[in-house]
Amino acid sequence: MSDSKQKVHNPIQINTETCIRCDFCDWICPGDLIYHEDGNKEHLPVVAYPDECWFCGLCQKICPVDAITIIFPEQMINNKTDVTTLLGKVVE
Ligand code: SF4
Ligand code: SF4
Repeated sequence: MSDSKQKVHNPIQINTETCIRCDFCDWICPGDLIYHEDGNKEHLPVVAYPDECWFCGLCQKICPVDAITIIFPEQMINNKTDVTTLLGKVVE
């Protein structure tokens, strides 16, 4: 029996040892994708909507203890599309 559900890529990894549960990543995410209960020092933040992450890197940048690693999906790492095509126009 095959699983018809597609596995959602986890865009960020949070180091359980170093995260100080400061809420900064929750606060900064422009898509409001990260959730962490205010003042909760027990649980890690979670990415509530992982499939909506656009890998802007702000959560990683603001983390005061460098606890976040961005996990880029394979199709981004191996993308062979040239920059002008991505921009959608060619300047002559
Ligand atoms: S990389 Fe950007 S969009 Fe993705 S979770 Fe971090 S702050 Fe949000
Ligand atoms: S910004 Fe870093 S230390 Fe603060 S809650 Fe997020 S992962 Fe943890």
